[in-house]
Amino acid sequence: MKKINLDNLRHSTAHLMAAAVMELWPDAKRTIGPAIENGFYFDFDFGETKISERDFPKIEAKMRDLLPMWKGFERHELPPELAKKEYPGNPYKHELIDDFSKEGQKLTFYKSGNYWDLCRGGHVAHPDQNLKHFKLLKVAGAYWRGSEKNKMLTRIYGTSFSSQKELEDYLKSVEEAEKRDHRKLGKELDLFSISPLTGAGLILWHPRLSYTRNIVEQFWKDIHYKNGYQLVHTPHVASMDMFVISRHLSKYIDFMFPIMLHQYIEGESALDYTADEVLKPMNCPNHIQIFKSRPRSYKELPIRMGELGTVYRYERAGVLHGMTRVRGFTQDDTHIFCTPDQVLDEVRDVIRLTKYFYEIFGFKNYQAYIATRPEKYLGSLKDWQMAEKALIKACQVENIDYKIDEGQGVFYGPKIDSKVKDSLGREWQLGTIQFDFNQPSYAETTEEEIDEFWHLKTFKMKFQSRERLAKYLKKLGRGFDVKFIDNQGNEKQTVMIHRTILGSMERFFGVLIEHFAGAFPLWLAPVQIVLIPIGEKHLEYAKKLEKEFRTAGIRVETDDRSERMQAKIRDHTLQKVPYLGIIGDKEADNKDGLFLSVRTRESKDLGQLTLPRFLESLKEQIEKKS
Ligand SMILES: [Zn+2]
Ligand SMILES: [Zn+2]
Repeated sequence: MKKINLDNLRHSTAHLMAAAVMELWPDAKRTIGPAIENGFYFDFDFGETKISERDFPKIEAKMRDLLPMWKGFERHELPPELAKKEYPGNPYKHELIDDFSKEGQKLTFYKSGNYWDLCRGGHVAHPDQNLKHFKLLKVAGAYWRGSEKNKMLTRIYGTSFSSQKELEDYLKSVEEAEKRDHRKLGKELDLFSISPLTGAGLILWHPRLSYTRNIVEQFWKDIHYKNGYQLVHTPHVASMDMFVISRHLSKYIDFMFPIMLHQYIEGESALDYTADEVLKPMNCPNHIQIFKSRPRSYKELPIRMGELGTVYRYERAGVLHGMTRVRGFTQDDTHIFCTPDQVLDEVRDVIRLTKYFYEIFGFKNYQAYIATRPEKYLGSLKDWQMAEKALIKACQVENIDYKIDEGQGVFYGPKIDSKVKDSLGREWQLGTIQFDFNQPSYAETTEEEIDEFWHLKTFKMKFQSRERLAKYLKKLGRGFDVKFIDNQGNEKQTVMIHRTILGSMERFFGVLIEHFAGAFPLWLAPVQIVLIPIGEKHLEYAKKLEKEFRTAGIRVETDDRSERMQAKIRDHTLQKVPYLGIIGDKEADNKDGLFLSVRTRESKDLGQLTLPRFLESLKEQIEKKS
């Protein structure tokens, strides 16, 4: 069977839905009904009538009634006056007809069954056969032509597929994704929150998620230490000069928090060139300062400098989303300083390490997207070619699936974006491997760059004249001039590679919560076991067990509330605690040692176990990170 174009299928279904709506509410005014990602919508003006999801069964039934008559789509052309007559009292269609005629477009109508509509085309050949598998999804408000100045219309969303199986699979995956939404689970499992007083896009990590983050961070540190990384700490605030030299303050100023200009704090003159400060948007310049704190010989290279470094970027309010798009985040940031000869080995090592981390957390399909030289770039062509070759070669040798995004690199170097699929098959970008030919280099400030800064309000405010600004910028220059001494005793520019594997703790945990649906594996679970005494008289025994678990390094809690056992089991299962230890007479009275009855969060009954045996199995699972 020929594969049907999904956009055509969905747009055709939008026609069918509009036909049903018009039969049920003949006074409604139709507007437009395009196919969109994962479905379609149609916008109507229902006047005073309120339409809700409760009307869906009625609309869907009418769609099924009409469908057998829809044998195909007939194309017709009409002149504007006649076209308008088809829509008496419908200003939306009249506006479209006027616009299309002005653009010199032909006014085409498509007819199926008894319904026809102004449309540019893009339909299925046999609607009665093809349009059987649809579902209406939701109702929402939408402004005519997306402008708040216009009237609010009623938008009905739906979707359709070429088979019932695909439709059902899709609906199931949407439902599953909603259940796993990290913002919803964050609340239910008491993992994190965002307070308007802290600020939008700034995450408050609650004790439970902090436990898990600590484990991930410690694991990250251990593995990096084993792989020859040096771990450092650098401050959150940096002098403005630093990010003038790096040029972040000219290129990315819109994504930085405003500069803390001292003349407004201490009343100093703007002209004193006091070192005003910024919240750092990047860790790299600080790592460069550590590198440059003394001369470096080629014998020391490569230097791999890592930090769980918190940075701040001013993302627009509209794009903020739970933990996955935020304004303050801790990157698992590392900078590799090396010689050109070491580049391939270093990239290979990073890819291997990346793969290792993704596998530990159960992410499949590590895919690399290599972004190459854009039209405008910094650094020499030779450097770019060396770096691009290394990225491609490293993927090939390490057997990583890669795609090349031609010309999509940032101006200062080519990069790899590392993407994975989660347990629902959704793709997420986590890490990057990014060459940088800007920061390690040095160049004098150009007139063009002075103009770039002069156009920014903050710099006008501080320096008040272009001349003064020019003097300041010329003193600093561009780039940090990062050198090493080669085996001939000559100074050479160091190659610098930025890399993250998890991306940031915030985003990674947002993804991780959805990936595991909140049910963290044992080694990451904030609470690994909850002990439930059946009656009051079993509490003492439970406390004794709790102490044993605690001493063995297991994260344990005892539920001593006076709830019924079944209610406690339900609560902790909903909280996704991996194990529940039930303690009653049978366990407490057993004189052969310490016992407990164990249930898993999947409601599997493991029966009565001795403490040493159970502890051993817990430790083994934690060790294996399974
Ligand atoms: Zn159409
Ligand atoms: Zn960096």
